[in-house]
Amino acid sequence: MKYSLLVETYEKIEATTKRLEMTGYLVDLFAKSDREVIDKVIYLTQGKLYPDYLGIELGMAEKLIIRSISLAAGVSTHEIDKIFKELGDVGRTAEQALSTMKKQASLFDFFQAAGAREELTVQKVYETLDRIARAAGEGAQETKIRLLSSLLKMATPKEAKYIVRTVAGKLRLGVADMTILDALALAFCGTKEARPILERAYNMCSDLGEVARRLVLEGLEAVKEIKPIPGKPIRPMLAERLASPEEILLKMGGKCAVEYKYDGERVQAHKVGDGEIYLFSRRLENITPQYPDVCQLIKEHVKAREVIIEGEIVAIDPDTGDMLPFQELMHRRRKYGIEEAMEKYPASLFLFDLLYEDGEDYTLKPYLERRKRLGEIVEGADRIQLAEHFVVENPEELERIFEEAIEKGCEGIIAKALTPEAVYQAGARGWLWIKYKRDYRSEMIDTVDLVAVGAFWGRGKRAGKYGALLLAAYDPENDVFKTVCKCGSGFTDEDLEKMPEMFKPYVIPHKHPRVDSQLKPDVWFVPAVVLEVIGAEITLSPTHTCAKDAIRPGAGLAIRFPRFTGRWRFDKKPEDATTEKELIEMYQKQLKKIEAG
Ligand code: ATP
Repeated sequence: MKYSLLVETYEKIEATTKRLEMTGYLVDLFAKSDREVIDKVIYLTQGKLYPDYLGIELGMAEKLIIRSISLAAGVSTHEIDKIFKELGDVGRTAEQALSTMKKQASLFDFFQAAGAREELTVQKVYETLDRIARAAGEGAQETKIRLLSSLLKMATPKEAKYIVRTVAGKLRLGVADMTILDALALAFCGTKEARPILERAYNMCSDLGEVARRLVLEGLEAVKEIKPIPGKPIRPMLAERLASPEEILLKMGGKCAVEYKYDGERVQAHKVGDGEIYLFSRRLENITPQYPDVCQLIKEHVKAREVIIEGEIVAIDPDTGDMLPFQELMHRRRKYGIEEAMEKYPASLFLFDLLYEDGEDYTLKPYLERRKRLGEIVEGADRIQLAEHFVVENPEELERIFEEAIEKGCEGIIAKALTPEAVYQAGARGWLWIKYKRDYRSEMIDTVDLVAVGAFWGRGKRAGKYGALLLAAYDPENDVFKTVCKCGSGFTDEDLEKMPEMFKPYVIPHKHPRVDSQLKPDVWFVPAVVLEVIGAEITLSPTHTCAKDAIRPGAGLAIRFPRFTGRWRFDKKPEDATTEKELIEMYQKQLKKIEAG
């Protein structure tokens, strides 16, 4: 399969501002793809080589890329550097360097070379990038340069642009997982009806390549067979939110379980047959190296051969054993000095779910059964235990547990449905879990997690820096980000200083196709960075597109007096941001509160 087919699609995707068109281009691409390489087509289109959870970084340093381009184009690194400084994009640098070279070659040489030129295939590009990603140890840098320059020599200038962006980890077409699932359903099943089956399979294995390969090579029935596999993370189940015990009990049919909502880092722990332990974060990144102590606790206290369990890792005060706020776990986000960090900032594990045990898929079993079995296989100890759990039927009792949880350093509680249908809804935010957090009771609205989709340049003291960010909530139904506010307060001088540099990789020349905005910021971004924001209230807005027409025709919702809380949510993907639906619910709650009092 020719790599140029991918390049043509990438160009079309980059040029469109419409999501439907984007999906259409992907459908065409998938339908034309060779069956054997469909997984590779998908990984490459998302700018990677493997599913995220493997944590294998492709990113090759700019300096090495420049040396590779210089070798391929037969031009000095100094010249290439100059072009790069001018264009600020390694991909376009490669394109320009190669096209200049080809123009300069004599016509005879060029045609001869073109005749001899082997057309680049997806296989060839993938295999070479794979070798580049895996090159390690002594001489790795030279190997990477040799591999990339030989690939670039075979490439057309346009192909070179995208190869280089991919190898630099900067392809960023903004093609989301859900768009790929839509396109797969349309390309191979004819309609979107098969989409839920594909989505469930994806939720189980977190590997779009695997789902596509099964679909294309073995059919939809084989996709239905995809079950939890120890070592491959399952996409997490998420909670809805409500603001009072009464509402929670009403929603739960009068009775529910209540667990503490610990304030730490969510972890999905996999114990694999060979005794290895893998830890995955909420974003399904492999965080095993950060927590050797947690791995040891699981090895010693979880009595099952193969198992997938979930819990919250919480930092504790080594002097008092008290729980500490989640920020303290940041000390574990480092490559070196983990042993020391473990001593200074020890952690406890509070387990709350069981998803798989020795061949048995627990995701389809009801909550109480999962919880009971979890209790049987976990031998509680000082640093490892099950999340506190109660069954309640009245609001006063629920409120009491909530207050107790807060007093002990938790964020609040999570209510969990007790019905036989209360399965583990992988990858979904649903009403089987409802969170009730402290902020909800304050006069201010809750904090929300919003996605930066653009920025406005500042004036005066902020000249040359961003004055405000354009922030958006997520609409999962249409897979778009809809604006809710312009936020310029709450940023420290340091934040302001670093923001243009921090956002640089995401800057695009026009509105991203997955962004819905009436406002035109000075700079547009690929939706990627999530930040926590608090405001005074939610108001109807003629300017913002979030919840447009949902409450009043012509009006959307806006957050009034938004302020950055100081918390960049790098642990959240843009699709994990607060949703449009949640904002509508928050607005309605607020109205009721005003009406009541
Ligand atoms: P938040 O920012 O409020 O943590 P979130 O989007 O990360 O929200 P939600 O599903 O809305 O996640 O809230 C549940 C989160 O609470 C889980 O991701 C988990 O990290 C944490 N948590 C703490 N204790 C529990 C528990 N007992 N059961 C389930 N989740 C828990």
